[in-house]
Amino acid sequence: MHKYLRWIVVCLYLFLNLTSMAQPAGEVDSLKNLLAVEKTDSNRITLFYKISRSYWFNNFDSALFYARNGLTLADRTNNRKGKADCLNALGAANWMHRNYAAALDYTLQNLTIRKEIRDETGIFNANNNLGLIYYEIENDSLALYYSRQALVAANHLNDPIKIAKASINIGLVYSRLGKNNEALTLYYNALGYAKRANDIIDLIYVKSNIGEIFMESRPDSALVYFQGSLALAEQTGNKEMVGANLTYISSLKLKENKPDEAISLSGRGFTIASEIGDLKVMSVAAENLYKGYKLKNDFKKSLLYLEKSKSLQDSMLNDEKLKKIADLKLQFEMNEKQKQIEILQKNNLIARHAATNQKLKFGFILALVIVLAFLVFYFYRNIQEKKQSIERKDYERQLIEAKNRAEENNKLKSAFLANMSHEIRTPLNAVVGFANLLQKPNVPDHKQQRFISLIKSRSFDLLHIIEDILDVSKLEVGQIKINETTADVTNLMIELYDYYKLKIDSRITKPEFELMYYVDKSLENTELIFDGQRVRQILINLLDNAFKYTESGYIAFGCDLSDNSHLLFYVKDTGIGIPESKQKLIFDRFTQLEELNNNMFQTGTGLGLSIVKGLIDLMSGKIWVESKEEEGSTFWFVIPVRFPK
Ligand code: ADP
Repeated sequence: MHKYLRWIVVCLYLFLNLTSMAQPAGEVDSLKNLLAVEKTDSNRITLFYKISRSYWFNNFDSALFYARNGLTLADRTNNRKGKADCLNALGAANWMHRNYAAALDYTLQNLTIRKEIRDETGIFNANNNLGLIYYEIENDSLALYYSRQALVAANHLNDPIKIAKASINIGLVYSRLGKNNEALTLYYNALGYAKRANDIIDLIYVKSNIGEIFMESRPDSALVYFQGSLALAEQTGNKEMVGANLTYISSLKLKENKPDEAISLSGRGFTIASEIGDLKVMSVAAENLYKGYKLKNDFKKSLLYLEKSKSLQDSMLNDEKLKKIADLKLQFEMNEKQKQIEILQKNNLIARHAATNQKLKFGFILALVIVLAFLVFYFYRNIQEKKQSIERKDYERQLIEAKNRAEENNKLKSAFLANMSHEIRTPLNAVVGFANLLQKPNVPDHKQQRFISLIKSRSFDLLHIIEDILDVSKLEVGQIKINETTADVTNLMIELYDYYKLKIDSRITKPEFELMYYVDKSLENTELIFDGQRVRQILINLLDNAFKYTESGYIAFGCDLSDNSHLLFYVKDTGIGIPESKQKLIFDRFTQLEELNNNMFQTGTGLGLSIVKGLIDLMSGKIWVESKEEEGSTFWFVIPVRFPK
């Protein structure tokens, strides 16, 4: 029974919370008239809100209609306070009609805006309503949370009525959780604030609530509180609480076994509850009447109220069932909402992931491009540097080579000059020396003849050197011309043989080698077209060398017709030979001088073979040497010839 009574009081209290906010119904028309002429947007929003508020309890659709109109206008004009008011209206209308999910949704949106615009009263109201809605749908933890938030806001505002309301709401939750001590503390707190503010409405409820807690443990105290609440309710014409308190007191009287008082009290309670159609109070009052008449053995009336009580309980159970269905619907709606939120969050997450992935991809590609660009640049620079370094090295090498060549040339020139002065001075000294001797008196005839022939011979050597130098410089500047005329090779060879034979024979110490020559038979009495003078000069140079570097064995020279257009000459000796490494050098100007300096036979300018090669090149011929150290050398050369027509 007490459970029912408790529930009755609470429902009445909740109803009161909202009715305190609602507008008296009579005002609706005047509000609508005002709306018809009002031009200012913010005022129109307020009017929409107020009209909606008037419809909260009796016309759900109209309440929604006006609240939504207000909301649209508030959104369009970006009126935050107006928007919050209209959301509040939508939340309350839905709450009244047990659309709890919608009620919570709108009220939470309302709370968010109130926080944004720092509307402390709005924050209190939204939290207070949320606490009550959650209490109603029996979510005690959230009910406690929002009611406490409401208490914080009320304390901020330092508003005793609001503090009292929030305290009562928290007390209700504790009471339902069976935490009577905590509930009492809060109720006493509320009692203090309500008294201070002379807040009769809350005093009625908090006193009744305290009485309810004391009902079992301290019935006397309970009676005092119920009677206090009853007096105030009667004073203010709060029929709901008059009925409830009468019924509470009748329950106490039944416990005291005072059926007459109980019947009288619950009878009054039943009548008042019937007037306002309060099924719950009616049901409990009927049950008390049944018990009272039963105690008085008036079974007829007792049965009548038992049946009444049962039918009321049935309709209440029905109501309870409807509430359960509504709760299930609410649960379903909340689950759906939760799912939607989760899907939304998931989508958001996916979108964020996609965006992050996109960013990552972009970042990766960018990094790749940068790395590639860097690599390309790096390799390009490297290649450039390598190329430049190769070019630089090549250039350096060329420079070094040029420098070495210049140094070499310089060295060769110095050596050449030193050697040349020696070569020139030797015969000149001889000429001057013998000329001096000739000047002396009383030089016998035969001596005079010998000096003269020596002077002649040395002058000839000198002439030869000068001719060589002239030839070299002429060859260098291209002044020597090949003069091709008809000549007989056989005669040339015989002439050379005779000349050298004579040379040998004129020597005081005869050399220990033979001199031989060979001319191919086909060439006998044959005239060919070539530069005979230059060929003679070449052969003399080669034969002079052979004589210089040979001590024993033989010296042979000869000529053959290699084909119909070329003559092949050779000069062969069994002298000291030329090391293989030096064989290529001997045809270069000056080069051999130093290279072969150790040569004991070495005299001369080192120009002979270079003149020979220069002349042969001019004749478009070719010269080469075959030689072995200690065995001897053979110089070959071939020149083009023509037969006269
Ligand atoms: P040179 O006036 O020094 O003889 P050449 O140009 O005629 O100048 O000869 C160059 C060098 O070649 C000689 O100094 C010598 O060392 C070497 N040479 C030339 N002909 C012979 C040869 N028939 N046998 C050995 N060495 C030779």
